[in-house]
Amino acid sequence: EQEVAEYRKSLGIRVSGFDVPRPIKQFEDCGFSSTLMNAISKQGYEKPTTIQCQALPIVLSGRDIIGIAKTGSGKTAAFVLPMIVHIMDQPELKKEEGPIGVICAPTRELAHQIYLESKKFSKSHGIRVSAVYGGMSKLEQFKELKAGCEIVVATPGRLIDLLKMKALTMMRATYLVLDEADRMFDLGFEPQIRSIVGQIRPERQTLLFSATMPQKVERLAREILADPVRVTVGEVG
Ligand code: ADP
Ligand code: MG
Repeated sequence: EQEVAEYRKSLGIRVSGFDVPRPIKQFEDCGFSSTLMNAISKQGYEKPTTIQCQALPIVLSGRDIIGIAKTGSGKTAAFVLPMIVHIMDQPELKKEEGPIGVICAPTRELAHQIYLESKKFSKSHGIRVSAVYGGMSKLEQFKELKAGCEIVVATPGRLIDLLKMKALTMMRATYLVLDEADRMFDLGFEPQIRSIVGQIRPERQTLLFSATMPQKVERLAREILADPVRVTVGEVG
């Protein structure tokens, strides 16, 4: 334990919560399939970033997480890689039942980036990703969602619209990511986020990432996460 504490300290990682899994040193420590390991090396990712070293084992163990780290620290792969594992662990897929992974991001640009990152790792697994955000045809998105997907990356407003149109249900969703939660609150998406969370079954894994943790975000985290581990990297939060 002492050794683990020193290792975290050397990386600038702070953690809180019960029974926090120990940080990993390399992707090989994650128990990923060879398909996923190949996708990772194809991206040129040689070793995990600091947030990934600590977040990956936490999320892979099924725990909820609050991840606080600055932009550019590799948070996307920290939630996308375990999401692929989570989806591959699910029983036979029934496409009418909607996505398993639901990712909310504040802007189109961010949603699109997460979509691209998700595709890189999902493609070789036959996992389908749909992007749902403003500025694209709602009808096209409706059709795509009706055809089925395992992952939806969305801005909150557009996802709510499509849920109202019954383009998808969230009865199968068990992996929820709120990315850049502070920015989503800044943009006034708190009601939409609460509505989305309310439509996802409580027996889910919930991940919240943010660069800062204002009171309002802290309050939401307390309400919607179960026994989360909090990971902070560097001088943020
Ligand atoms: P954040 O969400 O924390 O702002 P991103 O997930 O967008 O950061 O990652 C920032 C950049 O780092 C991206 O270009 C991504 O492809 C790259 N990246 C992520 N993980 C690794 C890794 N393990 N090794 C090398 N590059 C990585
Ligand atoms: Mg990000």
